[in-house]
Amino acid sequence: MRKTHAYISLINLDHNIRTIQQLNGSERLILMIKANAYGHGLVPIANHIKGKCDCLGVAIPEEAVILRNAEIEQNILVLEGFFDRDDLVYFIENRIWTVIHNYHQLDILIQNPELIPEKIFIKFDTGMNRLGFQPSEAEALIAKLATITNRQNLVAMTHLGNADFGNDQRTWSQTDQLESILKKQALDNSIKNSPALASLKHLSNSWSRIGLMLYGADPMSVPLDNGGLSLKPVMSLKAPIMAIRTAKQGEAVGYGNHWIAPKDTTIATVAIGYADGYPRITANGSPVYINGQIAPLAGRVSMDMLTVDVSDIEAVKIGDMVELWGKNIPVETIASAAMTSNYELLSRIGERVPRYYE
Ligand SMILES: *Cc1c(COP(=O)(O)O)cnc(C)c1O
Repeated sequence: MRKTHAYISLINLDHNIRTIQQLNGSERLILMIKANAYGHGLVPIANHIKGKCDCLGVAIPEEAVILRNAEIEQNILVLEGFFDRDDLVYFIENRIWTVIHNYHQLDILIQNPELIPEKIFIKFDTGMNRLGFQPSEAEALIAKLATITNRQNLVAMTHLGNADFGNDQRTWSQTDQLESILKKQALDNSIKNSPALASLKHLSNSWSRIGLMLYGADPMSVPLDNGGLSLKPVMSLKAPIMAIRTAKQGEAVGYGNHWIAPKDTTIATVAIGYADGYPRITANGSPVYINGQIAPLAGRVSMDMLTVDVSDIEAVKIGDMVELWGKNIPVETIASAAMTSNYELLSRIGERVPRYYE
């Protein structure tokens, strides 16, 4: 069988959790495992981390169902919340916490006072304009919710759109708006994501929601003052060489003559492509790691394979394993070569790539 695998280091995962716990201090911790645990495998990651946090966070009800079916008992928060009354019944029967972000959800709660989740995170839109109630609606909204649940079960939440830029006016505008709600309403709050935890030392909240850092990827778009975080990559994406040939000077490699050999070149064909989650758009010259050396991508990435110039790699042969990203090639390097983010690359690793936990 094809040896294209994502190796998941549970040792590095534990290291990252300790780093997160140190930064988070005594605040409560929701570890985010939406999108198949950012591509790392939902149930295995949940089982490994469930005792090391206060809650597991997913995006959609389906993800919570998978966790409960796997008999995971930890608290679960669903970020998109329930979509209809049937979802809500499932939330109650399975003790799942919800976010509410619109009046459709609020009305369902008010009409079904026997179906009230243990905790309700009320999402406020403080600048992203995707989801959430307006801060000006807070008072009336919270008064309504206080008729169906205890205020201690309510958490005022917002999501930061620019925390990856560190100390940034747009972030302070967002946190100020949540602050102004909390001045009038003594509620728990939830603000921090990974870049906020990493860079905003003076920001405090009751419930942090931390995803990317868990997986050892860099949440920042600007360098940190303290020289960075000690995180270790959890995923190493690897695939074997399946063929080796010579492209003569002037010959094309792959679809669309996207790369032409400048001289006679040894080309290794590697058994991974965009259907596995390695982006098609990744630029010629982007690094892969083979036998302790770096080799450049040469030619358009195909659906099931990609091609690499291995002219300078010693003793290369069929079956040699190639690292696409992981311990030797930061996922951020490939993200920038593919004009995207580490978040997208990790979460798009396909079902066709088996995960091995080590
Ligand atoms: C995904 C998500 C998070 C986690 O963000 P990271 O940057 O991965 O830590 C937190 N809050 C919300 C609302 C999210 O959607």
